[in-house]
Amino acid sequence: KVKVINLVKTFGDNEVLKGINLTVNNNEVVVIIGPSGSGKSTLLRTLNKLEEPTSGSIIIDNVDIANKNADINTVRKNIGMVFQHFNLFNNLTVGENIMLAPVELKIEDKKAASDQAKRLLETVGLSEKFDARVQSLSGGQQQRVAIARALAMNPDIMLFDEPTSALDPEMVGDVLQVMKNLAKNGMTMIVVTHEMGFAKEVADRVVFVDDGQILEQGTPDQIFEHPKNERLRDFLNKIL
Ligand code: ATP
Ligand code: MG
Repeated sequence: KVKVINLVKTFGDNEVLKGINLTVNNNEVVVIIGPSGSGKSTLLRTLNKLEEPTSGSIIIDNVDIANKNADINTVRKNIGMVFQHFNLFNNLTVGENIMLAPVELKIEDKKAASDQAKRLLETVGLSEKFDARVQSLSGGQQQRVAIARALAMNPDIMLFDEPTSALDPEMVGDVLQVMKNLAKNGMTMIVVTHEMGFAKEVADRVVFVDDGQILEQGTPDQIFEHPKNERLRDFLNKIL
């Protein structure tokens, strides 16, 4: 479970997150929607401490990771992140990408890490690609490798920042299917996406962020069929 309390993030005098309060329960899938520049990526990056929070708390397993003394490696180990641009290491094979973190951090020996990498490749539908070079894969395949790589750390929570928006349309479905399977298997997920079909089908809760604040949240039905907030209605009118 993740509890975000009054989270503020400023860059210089630009206050990008203006006091975010958000609880994500175990096994819950939360989809974050909102206009460009509203702070969605900053929120995810702050949760993962890729950005230092300016103030507020992020409580995970009773530890406030917003605290400067929190052990960053523990944080990263428990939170997997998948980005829009897969950020794989092009000089390594698919298998090496997936094994890298568990081996470097001495969580697993090479044999165990490679067995796990093969298992994970199977779950993302790429069991043939263990020895392939990253550049030989399509964007959709690379993104599924990126998901497998994040899963290799056995995270408690997975964060996704627009995982399909850099993909050719015909690649999107496979990646969303992998995410659906993860959700079905009980992974706790926070997903920033413009895929409203995914949000409607998979989200337990949809959160609308605008100008660094959560303006409305609810079930997909509440958010998409009965939006209350004026700015949410505007936003939906523009995108749907
Ligand atoms: P999009 O839908 O386009 O991805 P977003 O909701 O993810 O938008 P963010 O990327 O979180 O928005 O950006 C929110 C604001 O924070 C923007 O005004 C952006 O310029 C600013 N910002 C983000 N990262 C930094 C940074 N490292 N330094 C300075 N300003 C930043
Ligand atoms: Mg973003």
